[in-house]
Amino acid sequence: MTQTPSKTSQSEALFARARTVTPGGVNSPVRAFKSVGGTPRFIREAHGAYLTDADGTRYIDYIGSWGPMILGHDHPAVREAISDALQYGTSFGAPGEREVQLAELVTRLTGAGKVRFTSSGTEATMSALRLARGFTGRKLIVKFRGNYHGHADGLLVEAGSGLMTNMDGQLGESAPSSAGVPEEYASLTLVSEYNDPAALDTLMAERGTDVAAVIFEPVVGNAGVLIPTPEFLAALHRVQAVGALLIADEVMTGFRLSLNGATGLLGLKPDLTCWGKIIGGGLPVGAYGGRSDVMDFVSPQGPVYQAGTLSGNPLAMAAGLATLRALEADAGIYDGLESYTSQLAGGLKTLAAEAGVPISVNQIGSMLTPFFVDAPHGTVRNYAQAARSDTATFGRWFQELLARGIYWAPSQFESIFVSASHTPTELDATLEAARAAFGSLK
Ligand code: PLP
Repeated sequence: MTQTPSKTSQSEALFARARTVTPGGVNSPVRAFKSVGGTPRFIREAHGAYLTDADGTRYIDYIGSWGPMILGHDHPAVREAISDALQYGTSFGAPGEREVQLAELVTRLTGAGKVRFTSSGTEATMSALRLARGFTGRKLIVKFRGNYHGHADGLLVEAGSGLMTNMDGQLGESAPSSAGVPEEYASLTLVSEYNDPAALDTLMAERGTDVAAVIFEPVVGNAGVLIPTPEFLAALHRVQAVGALLIADEVMTGFRLSLNGATGLLGLKPDLTCWGKIIGGGLPVGAYGGRSDVMDFVSPQGPVYQAGTLSGNPLAMAAGLATLRALEADAGIYDGLESYTSQLAGGLKTLAAEAGVPISVNQIGSMLTPFFVDAPHGTVRNYAQAARSDTATFGRWFQELLARGIYWAPSQFESIFVSASHTPTELDATLEAARAAFGSLK
C-alpha cells in the first residue's frame, strides 16, 4: 500500500460543525484523537473489516467499535436478526421472549445463575457494585489502578498517588479522576495495583471486612492490554475468604477471549460478572449476573433497586443473540482470531526491531497493544510500566498507519480488536503499512 495524501475535508467540516453543538465534537472522548492529534475521521459506513469515512477513504478497522464487532461490521446474520425483529416493534417496556433467550444463552455459556440486562457496560458495573453493597451490607469497594469500569461516579477513581505497597499501613489512598466526583464518593473506592498480589493481600488484611466487592478487568484493555499473572489471580480469589464479592468486569473480554470470556480462559471463579459490547452485537447492551443467591437481591425479587426504560430492548437482544449464536456455531473462530492476532504481534515485534524502535507487545486472543517502551523482561505488567510509554512516538506511528489506510486505536493506552472478518489480505496490508510506519520514525 503506498502513501496517498489523505483527504479529510468532509471530516474536518463535520468536526467543526460537531464542536459547535457537542462538547469537543464527539460523544465519547477518545474518539476526538486528542492524544494523537489530527482530525478524527467521521465514519460513513462499515462492512466486514473496513470503515469508510465521510471523504470516501477506506480503512482496515482495528477498533471494532471498541470491542462489540467481533464478527466484523454488518455481519449478515446480525443484520438479518435486527431486520426481523424490527418488523415487530422497537421497544415494548414489557418483557419479551428474546430477553429470555439471551439470558438463557448467556447463563448457559458462562455458568452464571441469573443475569439482568442493562443498556450499557457502565450501568452493568454500577449496578453490580450496588448489588454487592446491598448483599454484604458493606460500603467499600476495591478497584485496580488503570482498570476502567465505565463512568459511574464511584468508579472514576484511580490511585492519585497510588496504594502504598510498602507495608507501612497507609492503604488505598483514593482520588477522583474526574471533576464532579465528590471526594466522599471517591473515599469509598480503594485502589490497588494490578498484578501486585502482596498489595492486594495487605489491603484486604487491613480493610477486607469492610469491603463489599473487588472489581477488576480479568485481562486489562483500558491501560493497553495487561495480562494477569497466576499469582495475582490467586490473590483475587483470596478476597472471597473475607466475605468480599469478586466482580469480573468482562465488558470488554466477555465472549471475546472465549465463549466464557477471560473467566473461562483463566479459570476464574467470580461471584458476579459484568458484560457489554459483544452481547449487544453492536447495539446498546450491558448485563450483570452470577450467583443466584446474590442476584435474587435485585429488585423486584430483592431490595436492591435497578431499572431501565430500554433494558432488554428487542433489537439489541436480537443482535446479541445472533452474535453469540454465530460465535457458538463456529468452533474454530477463537483459534482463528488468536492466529491472526499473534501473527500481527509477531510481525510488529520483528518490524520494530528491524527499524530499531523499542516496543513491547502484549497480546492475548484478539486483543493487542504495542507499548512504545523498553519494558523490564520485555513485558508490561501494570499501569506504571504502561505509563512509561513514549506517547509522542506512538502518536506519529498512529498517523503513519492512518495515512496508509489502517485505523488503529487512537491512544497508546487502548487495546485493538481483531474481528473474524480480518483475513490474511488485511494482515499483509497491515504489516506492510506498519513496516513503513516504523521506518518513518527514525
Ligand atoms: N468496563 C470495561 C472493562 C470497559 O472496557 C467499558 C467500556 O469500554 C465499560 C466497562 C463501560 O462500558 P460502556 O462504555 O458500555 O458504558
